[in-house]
Amino acid sequence: MNRFKITSLLLVEIVAGFLKTLKYFFFQPAVTLNYPYEKGPLSPRFRGEHALRRYPNGEERCIACKLCEAICPAQAITIEADVRDDGSRRTTKYDIDMTKCIYCGLCEEACPVDAIVEGPNFEFATYTREELFYNKDKLLSNGDRWEKEIAANLIERAKFK
Ligand code: SF4
Ligand code: SF4
Repeated sequence: MNRFKITSLLLVEIVAGFLKTLKYFFFQPAVTLNYPYEKGPLSPRFRGEHALRRYPNGEERCIACKLCEAICPAQAITIEADVRDDGSRRTTKYDIDMTKCIYCGLCEEACPVDAIVEGPNFEFATYTREELFYNKDKLLSNGDRWEKEIAANLIERAKFK
């Protein structure tokens, strides 16, 4: 009982806690990140925002086989396709309802030409649901924006197959 009173009187716990705070403040590396100015490392296998990729000559990779649409467990993908004048088959509509997507990665796994991929971007929160209804233009622009990172990640991911 007496010991309890003395330690309370001398504020031993508070001083010890304060010293620990000073120790971590001045002598230990920070364990937190100043997000969004600092970001942690991301695995090359991270499954983020979707993107449709192009070949280096600018031609879109997707051949409208609809395998991604068929395999999607959330039925988030909607594709319509037609044959071009040059005889190639291409999508006329490629929509992903990102509010349905569960980021399982099956669309990417199913794609025979690495057209639809889940890129490294995780900062695509929106104010409205409508902004998460992605169309082909949005997906292609994502691909154009992230192609360098996506291509590097695909090489790394291949090591796990
Ligand atoms: S990640 Fe999964 S749920 Fe999302 S679109 Fe692809 S297959 Fe569908
Ligand atoms: S993204 Fe890939 S799997 Fe989906 S329709 Fe295009 S080529 Fe087929």
